[in-house]
Amino acid sequence: MSKFQHLDCCVPVEADNPAIVKNNDLCALCGHCLAVCQEEIGVQLHYDLLKNHDTAICINCGQCSANCPEEAITVRSECQAVKDAIRDPNKIVVFSTSPSVRVGLGDAFSDQPGRYVEGKMVAALKALGADYVFDVTFSADLTILEEGSELIRRITTGSAPLPQFTSCCPAWVKYVETFHPEFIPNISSAKSPIGMQGPTIKTYFAMKKQLDPSRIVNVVVTPCTAKKAEIRRPEFNAAGRLLKRPEIRDNDYCITSKELAHWLQEEGIDFNDLPDLPFDDILGKGTGAGVIFGNTGGVMEAALRYAYEVLTHQKPPETLLNFTPVRGMTGVKEASIDVAGLTLKIAVVYGTENADKFLQGDVSQYHFVEVMTCPGGCISGAGQPQCHSIPVTDAIRMQRIASLYSEDERMTLRNSCDNPEIQTIYREFYKEPLSPISEALLHTSYYDRKLEK
Ligand code: SF4
Ligand code: SF4
Ligand code: SF4
Repeated sequence: MSKFQHLDCCVPVEADNPAIVKNNDLCALCGHCLAVCQEEIGVQLHYDLLKNHDTAICINCGQCSANCPEEAITVRSECQAVKDAIRDPNKIVVFSTSPSVRVGLGDAFSDQPGRYVEGKMVAALKALGADYVFDVTFSADLTILEEGSELIRRITTGSAPLPQFTSCCPAWVKYVETFHPEFIPNISSAKSPIGMQGPTIKTYFAMKKQLDPSRIVNVVVTPCTAKKAEIRRPEFNAAGRLLKRPEIRDNDYCITSKELAHWLQEEGIDFNDLPDLPFDDILGKGTGAGVIFGNTGGVMEAALRYAYEVLTHQKPPETLLNFTPVRGMTGVKEASIDVAGLTLKIAVVYGTENADKFLQGDVSQYHFVEVMTCPGGCISGAGQPQCHSIPVTDAIRMQRIASLYSEDERMTLRNSCDNPEIQTIYREFYKEPLSPISEALLHTSYYDRKLEK
């Protein structure tokens, strides 16, 4: 006998789930949450709740909430804690915004989905009381240098198994830890961009500005509910361990684009009337490669641009700057590419149920595989505004993706290694990718969650 109700049509949600909250009183028993969790996310299909001691398994992707028409499942809000930090004169509140927030946030304030609202987003956070606003595209570039260097090392030295899987999606990482621990050695040890941004702010940025890191409150603004769980992984206090103050967390709070939109509406801030403001310096610049991290295929394209330049010592050609085989809303995409005498075989997958099926095939033929949990990638993370449609449609997803690609095309710097702030931070602090200090702050490890099947 389970403690959960209506398991034939609803997903079970534990009371301490860090990402989502369920209110059974609002549930209309429509079955949409269970359908998405089984058919697209592949979680409720692959375990027996009672054999798992009646403990619900959840990878915190939030897609059940994005598909719930009654708001019976909602995102767990952290806005109040952030407001309290802003009111505390001893705290320095630093916001870092993920690449896809800038093409989702505007959907809450207009009927035109996918508007590129980067400048207004920064102005909105400043209006709410941010001391600094940084760009996670900076750390997306940092991720590419670390993850790309790790891939090259795996290929050239056999230091770890191939294919290398991307690690930027915490729901995917938890999926592997739970259902396919045999593939844990294949996941890149590089943290997600947000996982890198947090410790970099509390060490390098604090040092440059001569700030006490215990006064800094790091708030990540994301499309993603799984990041609420990721920032609470016990080992995500790398800055604290380095500084010998282990109580310091790398990131303190995670709010979604939707939470930010509600907060702005509550405060009566006219989003569309805000000026365009730039990000703050030191961690405020990203390249086009960092921008496209927000959509399916974007991490792969960014990594290929970097790997090409490292392996050939030449700038990536136009075909790699617009690498169409990994673009678009197909659940599994594959391609081969010749680089410096190597034929790299790659795959791009979204949806963890698609990934589950992919893992049952011959994965050993691939060198690098990108997996994101949400349909189309982070642009349709469960924390993005709904844009009058539950769930958001593929047409809306394509508009958000197009908006990120057109920004990438508009930018003059499109390869992560060309980012001047990244070049500076390696010169002044991290030394080189995979250096001891990079390993300490920017890399992590994973564990087998030992599911009883
Ligand atoms: S989608 Fe919402 S309303 Fe429908 S069964 Fe699930 S929780 Fe209930
Ligand atoms: S958050 Fe994701 S994994 Fe968890 S119940 Fe909802 S759809 Fe399933
Ligand atoms: S695809 Fe992006 S938004 Fe969705 S769970 Fe993964 S990291 Fe979060």
